[in-house]
Amino acid sequence: MVTEEENNKHKRASTSSVLKLEKFFSELCKDEIFAVLDVYPEEKTVVIDYNSLEVFDPDLADLLLEKPDDTLEAAAKSISNIDPQRKNAKLNVRFSNIRNHVPLRNLRSEYIGKFIAVDGIVRKTDEIHPRIMTAVFECRSCMRIHEVEQKTNIIHEPAVCTECGGRSFKLIQEESRYMDTQTVKLQEPLENLSGGDQPRQINIVLEDDLVDTLTPGDKIRVTGILKTLRDERTKRFNNYIYGNYFEPLEQEFEEL
Ligand SMILES: [Zn+2]
Repeated sequence: MVTEEENNKHKRASTSSVLKLEKFFSELCKDEIFAVLDVYPEEKTVVIDYNSLEVFDPDLADLLLEKPDDTLEAAAKSISNIDPQRKNAKLNVRFSNIRNHVPLRNLRSEYIGKFIAVDGIVRKTDEIHPRIMTAVFECRSCMRIHEVEQKTNIIHEPAVCTECGGRSFKLIQEESRYMDTQTVKLQEPLENLSGGDQPRQINIVLEDDLVDTLTPGDKIRVTGILKTLRDERTKRFNNYIYGNYFEPLEQEFEEL
């Protein structure tokens, strides 16, 4: 249970993050951000150097590592707020050079929900699937249209029709809005292994413009949020990384 007090504290925290991030973006990355906003939605990604955020506001930089979901949401909101054209843009804010660098085999439960950077070799890339972002429903009684933002793969319907009180809805697929998503498997660099160890692997979930940009054999450093998902069959939780940014690594890993 989240108490109301905690809830308010949380709200205040994110409001202050939005204000601080507005200041950061306006003072340090304005030209770059406005250039993307100018051509939005054809382009919708800005890459921010974590080091510049850390110099600007160390507490805010810490908050990004500790509460990345909230802070990334605040970052997107603050960019929308400083947009002179008021396009209501939802940019992907991606961070390079974060200092929370963790070896893949050390990604234990203490890191769940944290912003981390991991090195590895791409082993497998899955097919690209759509993920529903905004589901459009029609009330079966009065035909009123309802839009519901979706955060997970389980589709949430409206609780009740605000027009007629009806509780039965039809999903209208062709009116709903989607985002591409792809899972890739990342394996730890072999030079980190001592004799006889099996290389560890972890799934990386990529979305939007990160999709279809990696091929097996690519050596990368990926930034993302460590998340966990319960496997209904085995009843176990499996960790994965929700990717925010990746860059190719210069150094050569030993191939399998
Ligand atoms: Zn209705």
